[in-house]
Amino acid sequence: MTQTEILVIGGGPAGLRAAAAAAELGAQVLLIEEMDWLGGQLVKQTHKFFGSKEQYASRRGIDIARVLAEELDNHDRVTVWTGAPVLGIYEDGVVTAQKDNRHVKIRPRRIIVATGAAEKVLPFPNNDLPGIYGAGAVQTLMNLHGVLPGRRVLMVGAGNIGLIVSYQLLQAGVEVAAVIEGAPRIGGYLVHASKIRRAGVPILTRYTIKEALGRDMVTGAVIQQLDDHWQPVPGTEQTLEVDVICLAVGLTPLADLLWQAGCEMRFIPELGGHVPCRNHLLETTRPGIYVAGDVSGVEEASAAMVEGRLAGLAAARSLGYGGPEAESCIENALEQLHGLRSGPAGDKIRSGLKKLLGEEGAVC
Ligand SMILES: Cc1cc2nc3c(=O)[nH]c(=O)nc-3n(C[C@H](O)[C@H](O)[C@H](O)COP(=O)(O)OP(=O)(O)OC[C@H]3O[C@@H](n4cnc5c(N)ncnc54)[C@H](O)[C@@H]3O)c2cc1C
Repeated sequence: MTQTEILVIGGGPAGLRAAAAAAELGAQVLLIEEMDWLGGQLVKQTHKFFGSKEQYASRRGIDIARVLAEELDNHDRVTVWTGAPVLGIYEDGVVTAQKDNRHVKIRPRRIIVATGAAEKVLPFPNNDLPGIYGAGAVQTLMNLHGVLPGRRVLMVGAGNIGLIVSYQLLQAGVEVAAVIEGAPRIGGYLVHASKIRRAGVPILTRYTIKEALGRDMVTGAVIQQLDDHWQPVPGTEQTLEVDVICLAVGLTPLADLLWQAGCEMRFIPELGGHVPCRNHLLETTRPGIYVAGDVSGVEEASAAMVEGRLAGLAAARSLGYGGPEAESCIENALEQLHGLRSGPAGDKIRSGLKKLLGEEGAVC
């Protein structure tokens, strides 16, 4: 049985920052990542990030991943396992993982779950045909493995992810037939929308996909206009000849381990679906289990990094590390989070957190 003071599950921006912060206060940390590399979503992002300067805004996601992973090299108290999916968190506090094709057990004193989010899908006829991907899968194919998903794509969803992945497809030489969006307005930032519009890609708001066409693979898609009540408008169908349909319709917290661990969960649409109840220091209703990043509510990399730092500090302090220095670091992280979420861009998150935590930020 492997013993550690703090186990961090997930090596994205939240997990990397959690591990660094806990080690900074003096705790021994084991970070486990299921992929063979660290960085989570960041390693697929070739665009320059929005967010705050302290969290490396205006640098490319892939570069931020490298910086965060290198920060861990300064901490000899952190052990990293990659290529090791965590399989379960049990009642007695034991965690199991797969490592080098073996089933291993870990007994941590504290756990920080930073497993990120999973893509949502859409129900429509033939949505299981080869050629239908989530936007994250398209990015993994193109940006990690150098494989084009197809020749001509219909992008469903005009949030930041749909817009950014459309631009990356264009950069890779793939034609984007259209971006469709059910809402009356584009959800992503104007800067991303403008880039693909300038490249001649139509963005059709109040449109949805009616069905995918094809027998053994996608050969086309039927799209259709929606009215103000999200109902299809008869007679507005259009057929597009495409071999890829890319779904960028949102993310939902990847919270399976938290469900299994018995953490209390609540459905909060503004945060992406079921999220763990926790206090303002990100400790869940199961004492000693903390959360950080998209698994605690789908947001952005900047917030994931600060939440990771907060959870790492709080977990280490709960083990007696850090003294008064820990208090001021925690205060500072809370202030940074507050700053990131103020302003119009934070409206949705603030309203979700208010539902979850109440005005005082107490455990729900
Ligand atoms: C196309 C796109 C563009 C984006 N652009 C921006 C942007 O410009 N600015 C910005 O701030 N944010 C952006 N984001 C959002 C940002 O990438 C995420 O908010 C951020 O990566 C969340 O960090 P995280 O650490 O919570 O999760 P992730 O980055 O998803 O990391 C979670 C990690 O946990 C690992 N994991 C999951 N389950 C297990 C398990 N059971 N065992 C072991 N490991 C596990 C995963 O493999 C992954 O490495 C973008 C996202 C996408 C998809």
